[in-house]
Amino acid sequence: MENFEKLGLCKALNTSLHKIGFKKPTPIQAQAIPLILSGRDLLGSASTGTGKTGAFAIPVIDKIISSNDECALIVTPTRELAKQVVNVVRDLLGPSCPIKASCLIGGEAISKQLNQLRRKPRIIIGTPGRINDHLERKSLSLKKATYLVLDETDRMLDMGFGIQIDEILKYMPQERQTLMFSATFPKNIITLSKKYLKNPERISVDAENTLLKNIKHEIINVDNSNKYKLLVEQLEKREGAVLVFAKTKHSTEKIAKNLKTDGIKAGVLNGDLRQSKRDKIMKSFRENKIKVLIATDIASRGLDVPHLKHVINYDLPQVAEDYIHRIGRTARAGASGEAICFISPSEGHLWLNIDILINPDAKHQYTPGKNTSGGSKKKRDSAAKRKSFGEKPKRKSNGSASKKTVRSSEAKPKKRFYAAKKKSKK
Ligand code: AMP
Repeated sequence: MENFEKLGLCKALNTSLHKIGFKKPTPIQAQAIPLILSGRDLLGSASTGTGKTGAFAIPVIDKIISSNDECALIVTPTRELAKQVVNVVRDLLGPSCPIKASCLIGGEAISKQLNQLRRKPRIIIGTPGRINDHLERKSLSLKKATYLVLDETDRMLDMGFGIQIDEILKYMPQERQTLMFSATFPKNIITLSKKYLKNPERISVDAENTLLKNIKHEIINVDNSNKYKLLVEQLEKREGAVLVFAKTKHSTEKIAKNLKTDGIKAGVLNGDLRQSKRDKIMKSFRENKIKVLIATDIASRGLDVPHLKHVINYDLPQVAEDYIHRIGRTARAGASGEAICFISPSEGHLWLNIDILINPDAKHQYTPGKNTSGGSKKKRDSAAKRKSFGEKPKRKSNGSASKKTVRSSEAKPKKRFYAAKKKSKK
């Protein structure tokens, strides 16, 4: 699809799209927008960086603008994602639109939200717990909410929000349009979709291709005792913003504290921080005021920081699919990025699961002490050239004994991951 005008959106939206520089729909937008405009329920699989927010926000806003009193509810798993979505929605509404959007998330003063709700916002974005708080207090009514978006549904269920979602739905009209997005389709998502969607259209965007082809992967074997030293080395040599994932809240704090001692300014993002602090850190990171952010998996879903260049997995995620979400924080909207994994001997099995997921056709064997770099075809080609001219391969610096680059692990489309998705479609 060449441009948004072909979609027949209202004038105000076309003006906003022009203003924010969205000229042409992304593939997920080209698929989803006409379906949503036609009134269909949707079960969408699109991850990260594909323009998913616009895919549901643009048509929902179009519908809200052209009705008198209909409302929309958008539910996200994390506060940061809710804030990001509300910003996109406000940009799309434009400054002069009388329709208001409100963000209801935990950790923020309820009084501020009550004030917002008194102004009768017609688009509500929030996290399940706080939405329920308002429903119970009767400060929020969803009687007119004829549009429901469940974003990152698999993550919401992982976070234990299933019951909260059931509760919210009790307050919504039966006659509504429901759009459910999920990166994966395990059994519980299918069950939920059968419960809440009516004859949904299924759409899926080859997220792995869009996501992984622009990311250069590097794995570095390291002893636990060397991890921190290696991180400092990596941070010193990398240009641009870096997101570092660590396993626990405590370790994010500890790493940042040590970095500060070593003269590297780093922010921390974890679920223990007050929301105002989380907001402040995200703002500084987005505005490029801090180059390094150390986070738990709270930052792994949906966050959009376009200039983010590197994702370092200081600790590997426990669930292989979270790796895809983590690295999807870089290479957004067609940009390129780098993903670096530190693998300690005790994490070999975790890496093996990730490698199977992103490289289904390769031979999978984790050999402690062997480092791997790959992902960029250009780089592999030039390595091959160096070899054919008898040059030494470029070496990688790392904190472990081995410095050998052994094979390319260019992330191919995850056929196995996709096969699972396709199977679940039946
Ligand atoms: P999302 O997957 O919704 O988080 O979007 C990823 C990035 O793509 C964000 O930085 C958006 O601003 C950008 N984006 C979304 N849709 C478009 C579009 N149609 N044209 C250009 N950029 C877009």
